[in-house]
Amino acid sequence: MIQVRDLHKQFHSLQVLKGISLTVEKGKVVVVIGPSGSGKTTLLRCLNALEVPTSGTVQIGDVKLDFSQKPDRSRIPLLRRQTGMVFQSYNLFPHMTALQNVMEGPVTVKKEDPRKVQLKASAILAKVGLADKVDHYPAQLSGGQQQRVGIARALAMDPQVMLFDEPTSALDPELVGEVLKVMKELAQEGMTMIVVTHEMSFARDVADEVIFMDQGVIVEQGPPEQIFRQSREERTRQFLQHLQ
Ligand code: ADP
Repeated sequence: MIQVRDLHKQFHSLQVLKGISLTVEKGKVVVVIGPSGSGKTTLLRCLNALEVPTSGTVQIGDVKLDFSQKPDRSRIPLLRRQTGMVFQSYNLFPHMTALQNVMEGPVTVKKEDPRKVQLKASAILAKVGLADKVDHYPAQLSGGQQQRVGIARALAMDPQVMLFDEPTSALDPELVGEVLKVMKELAQEGMTMIVVTHEMSFARDVADEVIFMDQGVIVEQGPPEQIFRQSREERTRQFLQHLQ
């Protein structure tokens, strides 16, 4: 479902991604961990071309872009449409209700029939546990509820994969669980996901594979049991020790 080959990203003289390659099969959940500044967010943003990689290839589903050649920029929206992205800050439109926020993308970007979109958006909001909040504005919702609207909004675009960039980092601790629960349910339904998070319990419980990144490279990757209990790399062990 996702194939990344030798991805590089440079901001001016700063090399942030130094040759990332990874493959994610359909229905798998990959959790990316690593110290602040190691390039995790940049990797996610390169996957949907919110940042244009300096070189390398990204394939999601049947859309493949080779950034080593001069990329055909007209194909960037195709790549972006394969992915739903959930950010640390929810970025909801404050003047729109939860339902309107979820309907916005399918109606304005995909030009879907608003009546059908309304049904779909209501169903997705119910799925994330917000059936009774469809007519609430973001300011009337808790952070956890807003983030669940953020997830619903991404799902409404029918993405092939979901990318989560520290989706619970901005939440009060008591609200983290409700968001992780929705993400876990999505994973159980077979959604292909890449999740950047500091929630190691989520990584342990839900990930098929954990990737440890440091300084722009993948240092180690493997099933959670291996990374958390028998990591091969000293850098991984040091990082995990500091978390405890
Ligand atoms: P992480 O998500 O692991 O904390 P990031 O991908 O956010 O790491 O950042 C990696 C490095 O890239 C950091 O040094 C950061 O300052 C730098 N960086 C990220 N985005 C930009 C940008 N738009 N312009 C310049 N430098 C950036």
